[in-house]
Amino acid sequence: MIPVKDIRKPLRSCIACRQTADKRTLVRFVRTPDGAVLVDATGRRAGRGAYVCVAGACFEKVCKGHLLERALRVKLDARDYAGLKEAFAGIDCGSADAKAFEV
Ligand SMILES: [Zn+2]
Repeated sequence: MIPVKDIRKPLRSCIACRQTADKRTLVRFVRTPDGAVLVDATGRRAGRGAYVCVAGACFEKVCKGHLLERALRVKLDARDYAGLKEAFAGIDCGSADAKAFEV
């Protein structure tokens, strides 16, 4: 176990590159109780979650390798991925909290 000095900064790991990062540099995807997969901009939605780096090519890897399906144990089709991609892009550039994503 690595001692955690600051419990206010929970660390999560990206499902594509497996790097551990501050929660704020990752985007959370969540599987809602009714089986839908959403981008969770608030990070507080209930459900099974998976994290992907907001920067870099990790999301591309996730799409190509169908990593969300494995992480969240769901079935996603091309349309689902297209919707998630749009939502993901929206977080990247349109966020009022954009400073938090600076690495
Ligand atoms: Zn990553």
